[in-house]
Amino acid sequence: MLIPNRHYAELKDSYLFAGIAKKTKAYLENHPEKRLYRMGIGDVSLPLCPAVVRALHAAADDQASKETFRGYLPECGAPFLREAVAKHYAKRGVALSPDEVFVSSGASDELGDLLDLFDRSNAALIMEPAYPAYADANAMAGRNIVRLPSGKENGFLPLPTDNLEADLIYLCSPNNPTGAVFDREQLRAWVDYANRRGAIILFDAAYEAFIEEDRLPHSIFEIDGARTCAIEVCSLSKTAGFTGTRLGYTVIPKELERCGMNLNAMWVRNRTTKTNGVSYVIQRGGAAVFTEEGQAQIAENIRVYKNNAKVLMRALDQVGVWYTGGRNAPYIWMQCPNGIGSWAFFDLLLNRIQVVGTPGAGFGACGEGYFRFSTFGDPSDTEEAARRLTEFLGRI
Ligand code: PLP
Repeated sequence: MLIPNRHYAELKDSYLFAGIAKKTKAYLENHPEKRLYRMGIGDVSLPLCPAVVRALHAAADDQASKETFRGYLPECGAPFLREAVAKHYAKRGVALSPDEVFVSSGASDELGDLLDLFDRSNAALIMEPAYPAYADANAMAGRNIVRLPSGKENGFLPLPTDNLEADLIYLCSPNNPTGAVFDREQLRAWVDYANRRGAIILFDAAYEAFIEEDRLPHSIFEIDGARTCAIEVCSLSKTAGFTGTRLGYTVIPKELERCGMNLNAMWVRNRTTKTNGVSYVIQRGGAAVFTEEGQAQIAENIRVYKNNAKVLMRALDQVGVWYTGGRNAPYIWMQCPNGIGSWAFFDLLLNRIQVVGTPGAGFGACGEGYFRFSTFGDPSDTEEAARRLTEFLGRI
């Protein structure tokens, strides 16, 4: 008899976003005259930039004529996109060869698929609060998960200690949900720890484009020693509005080896077996992101989200609420006032001021008592939400 993967039975229901959707739906059914100010979503609200749209149209036209039609592309990514990404890293002083860049259909897909490279006996270290997919993907594989809680005392940026027993280390910087960003010294501590232990860091850089302070690294490969212990997973979802278009890339250095096996070569073997790559049209759209015109246009969109962050931060500053994030990240992580629990605070904001955010408890036990605001919303909704927040928080 066929035996399904029993680890699926151990997964907790993904109650976070389902719970939010259920509560907001019920609220609107009972109050049809009200409108909601949604600061909870992690999806973008601005469209693709003109340079990308033009490239997508041109690539669709290529597929319409015999001379320019493209069939299968190399599984690991079209050379034009792998080169464009490598050049983008070079501008930051990180030297990569294009065949260290793997084109993917997004960070989520990749964060799950990459686990094929590691034995199930490896333990995964996940610092919490965390993007829920890390734990779930490892639980599905039956891997042991070591949770490293973080908090206000370390700015939600925990550092390694020698008693940590982990083989696969998840680092997300800028972080979802806390918006906290590791500086060079902190990342160096993780890189040194991983090299000492023979562990591997999976560095999720999905929000690197939001970093504005020069002292903060965008890539783990800005840190000496990372080429022997890290894989970097990136996404164009938040950088360039590709949440629905789907495109990302992963960097695996050629030096990365464990037990005499080369992880770059293993990933080539994996990709050439398990995928026929990302569509030509989408990869052309992605390449346009890395042109001068594309970079200027995505910076404009990011500026809109950063302005939303400023509006929300100003509101929280006015009422003296503690928060982190917002400056180098599209998320603001605030402490709920008066010791209120994060779901109770969610209910309060929904019922009293019609503002929807995300309860911190949904990102791990240590997120209890905190609340996440996304800055990807509509600017006028964000202004109104901020006005309501200041007024409400000022009187509770
Ligand atoms: N990593 C983090 C930390 C995220 O927050 C998200 C999406 O919200 C992803 C990865 C997934 O990105 P993608 O849209 O490329 O799958």
